[in-house]
Amino acid sequence: MSPEEFRAAGKQVVDWIADYYAGIERHPVRSRAEPGEIRAQLPAHPPERGEPFAEVLGDLEEVLLPGVTHWQHPSFFAYFPANASGPAILGDLLSSGLGVQGMLWATSPACTELETVVVDWLAELLGLPEHFRTDAAGGGVIQDSASSAALVACLAALQRTGADVARRGITGRHVLYVSAHTHSSVARAARMAGVGADNVRVVDTDPATLAMDPRHLDELMAADLADGAVPTMVCATAGTTSTTAVDPVRAIGEVARARGVWLHVDAAYAGVAAVCPEFRWINDGVAEFADSYCTNPHKWLLTNFDCSVLWLADRAPMVEALSVLPEYLRNEATESGEVIDYRDWQIPLGRRFRALKLWSVVRWYGAGGLREHVRGTARLAREFAGRVREDPRFELLEPVPFALVCFRPRFPELGVEEANERTLRLMGELNDSGELYLTHTKVDGRVLLRLAVGSPQTRREHVEAAFARIRERVDAPA
Ligand SMILES: *Cc1c(COP(=O)(O)O)cnc(C)c1O
Repeated sequence: MSPEEFRAAGKQVVDWIADYYAGIERHPVRSRAEPGEIRAQLPAHPPERGEPFAEVLGDLEEVLLPGVTHWQHPSFFAYFPANASGPAILGDLLSSGLGVQGMLWATSPACTELETVVVDWLAELLGLPEHFRTDAAGGGVIQDSASSAALVACLAALQRTGADVARRGITGRHVLYVSAHTHSSVARAARMAGVGADNVRVVDTDPATLAMDPRHLDELMAADLADGAVPTMVCATAGTTSTTAVDPVRAIGEVARARGVWLHVDAAYAGVAAVCPEFRWINDGVAEFADSYCTNPHKWLLTNFDCSVLWLADRAPMVEALSVLPEYLRNEATESGEVIDYRDWQIPLGRRFRALKLWSVVRWYGAGGLREHVRGTARLAREFAGRVREDPRFELLEPVPFALVCFRPRFPELGVEEANERTLRLMGELNDSGELYLTHTKVDGRVLLRLAVGSPQTRREHVEAAFARIRERVDAPA
């Protein structure tokens, strides 16, 4: 593709995306495709001769769009948001255009140095501690996902136990601590790191707040120590995936510190809310106790997937765990010790120039624009929660600290199982309508609907319409 051909096709693509956003509400939110339906419409064999790019766009429109769930639709309330935004899309396009592979400082100095600046900016925007900044012992790095961040934290934690796991492999029995509401990525990190699923302890949660019980954590650690095991890492969550419950980071940190255990704080969804001072309470205890901390701009902070930022209080154990320098990567800059090679801060070797999209987002919106986005979406969620709270047909899970509302219709005439089935059926009908998209969770054996507000496209009318549709379905005869 010559630069002139690229220019022509590129303009079409940008126009296509702009039209897509302008008309996004024309699409059903959740794809109605049946399994295999999209694949059956695509040729089984690749073309022998190249085709004009316009044919790709044509098939995108005709064949693929019916199989797309519109995550950026203003009535997408499922899971957590995966925000996209104009500046992030453009930043990502520039990253693709440069085609840089930033594994080492030497493979593209700006890729590394912009990342350092942007993650330090974000630490400042979120009010994270000074020692997370790169000029201190710690530092931040952009990962593909919070799952990778958890694995990196786990490997660093293993290294810090002094068992030199990086060289000798796992010799002792290392233990990780989670709660029933911790994201499954930590259990997977335990498997991938060789800790093993049987060495993941599930700490009790407070039945009222669903937050981890630090006293039970301490008991489990004491029992493991007595048993000759090595308590290695605890994951505290600020904003769980199921219901956005917040673990008591400070109290958990005190327990972990007393026993020399690594504290990883998973704030994948909610951490970005700290751009607003009124949400900074979620950082309580982070400055004093967190060894690593992760939040995802790719959820609620307007930055296209993938962009998850991991900070460490001290980067040394991570680098020790992950640094291997083969001859073909040797270079003067690395040997000088004056530069960062982010390959040592992540699982893969190669890395994209992701900082460009986060930088574009922060510059386009500014701190004020980011605050407005978080505040605006959290306000809409609170308004929705208010509707639910006032309506005797529903039960609301309180509190609603961020922009996720968990609730369920009351079916007083039904038992728990029947009510669960009825709730899931109702959710299926709503989602089939194409007008909105909700997901669910289960707490104490009861199905709850989850409505997460987060798209910059979502306005009050969308949330009101969602409430009206849900109420209509609850009233409809079974
Ligand atoms: C979404 C989420 C994750 C996983 O995030 P990925 O970036 O998709 O790996 C981890 N922890 C919490 C609390 C989450 O909400």
